[in-house]
Amino acid sequence: MNSSPIPTHYQPSATLLSGRNILVTGAGDGIGKVAAQSFAAHGATVILLGRTQEKLEAVYDGIVAAGHPVPILYPLDLELAELAHYQLLRDSIETELGALHGLLHNASLLGQRTPIADSDPAQWQRVMQVNVTAQMLLTRAMLPVLENADSASVVFTSSGVGRKGKAYWGAYAVSKFATEGLMQVLADELENTSSTRVNSLNPGGTRTAMRAAAYPAEDPATLPTAASIMPAYLYLMGDDSKGINGQALSVR
Ligand code: NAP
Repeated sequence: MNSSPIPTHYQPSATLLSGRNILVTGAGDGIGKVAAQSFAAHGATVILLGRTQEKLEAVYDGIVAAGHPVPILYPLDLELAELAHYQLLRDSIETELGALHGLLHNASLLGQRTPIADSDPAQWQRVMQVNVTAQMLLTRAMLPVLENADSASVVFTSSGVGRKGKAYWGAYAVSKFATEGLMQVLADELENTSSTRVNSLNPGGTRTAMRAAAYPAEDPATLPTAASIMPAYLYLMGDDSKGINGQALSVR
């Protein structure tokens, strides 16, 4: 029995995200890249945030060449960015687009796979900065433009090790538990006062560079592609998931 609110064989309409503006972090590679392409293919204007400009430009060019709404490029390193950087982005979204309908927190660092006893404090801080603090600062800055939308969706990206701790997953696992906490607190704050819904999604093992770094001996061909998990992302970004709030969801 499927107890998840995400329909097992969800089929999004081609215009699911028409007229919607969606910000994707880590949009230059992996799941974030494919999510940005997929949102654009369903009509959204996507804001491509990431740290490697050439990768973002390649995603931008592909979306334009496919004839989808022209995206917006926003190179930013989440490790270095401060609240003022996010507020600048918020102000330009307000001026150029008016409202933000979706925010996909996707960028993350894997960090060290090592026992806590051996973990490097500086590496720990980097992971917590990118995976947790940056997500809080970005969300905080975006709340006013999310409120400008008739309905909006914030999706945090979780992981299996963010729901059950596992040896040697270190700061990454702890950061994903914190992501779940941030999601729950925010969802509860907005529950009765806002048309913004907030959930977390665990993509499960997916064929990307991060997965290959975590499991170097694994054959990537045995893993689902990012494209194959897009129905869940589209469902959560579109109005079909209206009313779902504060839930820790999984693709599988
Ligand atoms: P990925 O292939 O490593 O891609 C991550 C993206 O985030 C990259 O585009 C990367 O930029 C960007 N990024 C990293 N640090 C950044 C920073 N400081 N500032 C801005 N952007 C930054 O990872 P993925 O596998 O697609 O993972 C996407 C999400 O799914 C993550 O939250 C991950 O924890 C989660 N997840 C993945 C799996 C899996 O099996 N793949 C399983 C569970 C959860 P660059 O391109 O410049 O490196």
